Amino acid sequence: METTMTFEYAPAPESRAIVTIKPKYGHFIGGKFVPGGKHFPTINPATEEVLSQIARGGKADVDAAVKAARKAYANTWSKMSGKERGKYLYRIARIMQERAREFAVLETLDNGKPIRESRDTDIPLAAAHFFYHAGWADKLEYAGLGTSPKPLGVAGQIIPWNFPLLMLAWKVAPALAAGNTVVLKPAESTPLTALLFAEVCQQAELPAGVVNIVTGDGSTGALLVNHPGIDKIAFTGSTEVGKIIARAVAPTKKSVTLELGGKAANIVFDDAPIDETVEGIVNGIFFNQGHVCCAGSRLLLQENVAEEVLHKLKNRMEKIRVGDPMDKNTDVGAINSKEQLAKIIELSAVGDSEGAERWSPACNLPSKGFWFAPTIFTGVTQAHRIAREEIFGPVLSVLTFRTPQEAIEKANNTPFGLSAGIWSEKGSRTLWASQQLRAGVIWANTFNKFDPTSPFGGYKESGWGREGGRHGLSAYLKGVSHE
Ligand code: NDP
Repeated sequence: METTMTFEYAPAPESRAIVTIKPKYGHFIGGKFVPGGKHFPTINPATEEVLSQIARGGKADVDAAVKAARKAYANTWSKMSGKERGKYLYRIARIMQERAREFAVLETLDNGKPIRESRDTDIPLAAAHFFYHAGWADKLEYAGLGTSPKPLGVAGQIIPWNFPLLMLAWKVAPALAAGNTVVLKPAESTPLTALLFAEVCQQAELPAGVVNIVTGDGSTGALLVNHPGIDKIAFTGSTEVGKIIARAVAPTKKSVTLELGGKAANIVFDDAPIDETVEGIVNGIFFNQGHVCCAGSRLLLQENVAEEVLHKLKNRMEKIRVGDPMDKNTDVGAINSKEQLAKIIELSAVGDSEGAERWSPACNLPSKGFWFAPTIFTGVTQAHRIAREEIFGPVLSVLTFRTPQEAIEKANNTPFGLSAGIWSEKGSRTLWASQQLRAGVIWANTFNKFDPTSPFGGYKESGWGREGGRHGLSAYLKGVSHE
């Protein structure tokens, strides 16, 4: 008989005392917080508690922000040496590190992600992006991007809710390092860390107007995209909105980078180290509640190991702790919004009706807030919607294959191409598979690893251009190929 020992964990909640959330926020324009007109609430998705009232940016706010960014670009930032710009970026990075706990707690309250992830992944990586790009600011002419690279001007940047501060860093750090100024619109449901970042800009004495933050919803984003004073649009979010933006900028001179959806194949060959693979599968789909564009949401198992992997995966999933995101023991936190929860519920129901088999471990979900148990669907085929569409939640679709060639064909049979995973002990097989896969990022015997030096972006409907590394810098400089 198999005996298992279970440990009871006492709650280990992080204190929220370190953050001060104002009852109401305006926009950050020209180095100052300015009052907004209309407001909407931002809530804690784990409790539905209203955290603050956020300004809904309209035309006048976007105009003022673009004007401030243009002035700062023309008078200050584009004239400053790279060495001086770099000093500001280093200063911002250091302050983010100093205030890391405050950022982590605030991110978890506003987003619902476990404090362990915001503390150990989001915030350190956001600071690392500023450190990395600070290093580039005075070395642009040695980056192989032309002898005298020039900035584009004013960048409009629109970011999603899944990694709020990290996506801000991916956008703001390269733009500033290359000499651009920015107007950033955070997502409607997660604006608080961007507003804290505005305070960091003040603390770093960043010249007024170099970074402007206008909060709001999709209509605010659209105003920014269509503003004639913008030279470049950088967007991360859904493929649907990415297409709207591509159409809007097509007849203009604006440069654009789009980082969109994904439906990554995580391929397990029969020679894979099974225990490590199971950890990688869990990390690939349950990290950040599965709200990850590059999540390993399609598991492809070689048939002769499928049963063993699924058995071990289910055992491992029984141990996943779902609940209070502020508890340091929590693995899976709250779904970011009621709307996203509805989408996950709807697509999972489609999985049931299409004949796939659903399984979740027993878990007690809190009665308040937005929650979804970690879930796997087996018996999924290529034709199922849950194999083709991004669910963007803790839901894994499992398919099987017999030959390596079949795995590649199934993996590439998607309109997306953002990421993929390969699990195998054979180096030659890993290299062969990575050459066949049409995905921007391919992880081998690991998953969801990010680094500022590494370019990130997709093929096909997963987007245009790359962010991070030398490639990402090129997207903020004139006359440089973006691929
Ligand atoms: P969106 O693409 O709508 O949101 C991303 C950002 O774009 C937000 O700041 C949003 O504002 C803004 N926006 C919305 N409409 C427009 C517009 N017409 N013009 C300019 N900006 C706009 O994603 P959702 O939050 O609606 O999520 C929907 C789905 O998208 C998810 O279920 C998931 O599948 C996918 N997604 C993918 C992400 C990725 O990283 N690839 C990230 C987030 C979502 P606002 O927040 O107010 O809507």
